[in-house]
Amino acid sequence: MLNIILFGPPGSGKGTQSEKLIAKYGLKHLSTGDLLRTEIAAQTPLGIEAKAMMDKGLLVPDEVVIGMISSALEANPEANGFLFDGFPRTEAQSVALDGLLELKETQIALVLSLEVSEEELVKRLLNRGLTSGRSDDTNEQVIRARIVEYHNKTSVVADYYRKFDKVNNIKGEGTVDEIFALLCNEVDKYVS
Ligand code: ADP
Repeated sequence: MLNIILFGPPGSGKGTQSEKLIAKYGLKHLSTGDLLRTEIAAQTPLGIEAKAMMDKGLLVPDEVVIGMISSALEANPEANGFLFDGFPRTEAQSVALDGLLELKETQIALVLSLEVSEEELVKRLLNRGLTSGRSDDTNEQVIRARIVEYHNKTSVVADYYRKFDKVNNIKGEGTVDEIFALLCNEVDKYVS
């Protein structure tokens, strides 16, 4: 199995690059943001609880996203590998993911970390807010709160995987195709 974490702050291009990576390498895309938005659209109790946090730019509780990922892994026993997008976002989520993958006798192959400057992130997210229909992208305060959550809670995820020498930093500014080529370069090095 080839299991990859696509890592980076909100607006770093994880969603865009995920689509291209799953197509090229035949992976199953697991985006906790997408899974949560599906729950919100269906107005499930989980979705209603998560929306309150997401609208403030805060992370939803670890148990909630870990439970969703655990179910998604179980629901896809035939997958060649998984691309994790927006997960793990805390050290507790990283530890839980390692445990879940160990049960499947597999592990994270590599972490691809997209590096983008803060001003560029805010610009991209406000721009995405014009068309995405995502309420968390229209308010600059909420965007800044998400970036603060990223620095406080999520950036440690890279430190966690750095201990296992799994992290590759990728410049996330440039054209979509330029960035995709840099990502593929790292995956191909791992695969070969
Ligand atoms: P972005 O990274 O562009 O902000 P996402 O779609 O990945 O967008 O996430 C949107 C929101 O969903 C986050 O701000 C957070 O509230 C919630 N969320 C997504 N993934 C997680 C996670 N792994 N842990 C906690 N909260 C999450």
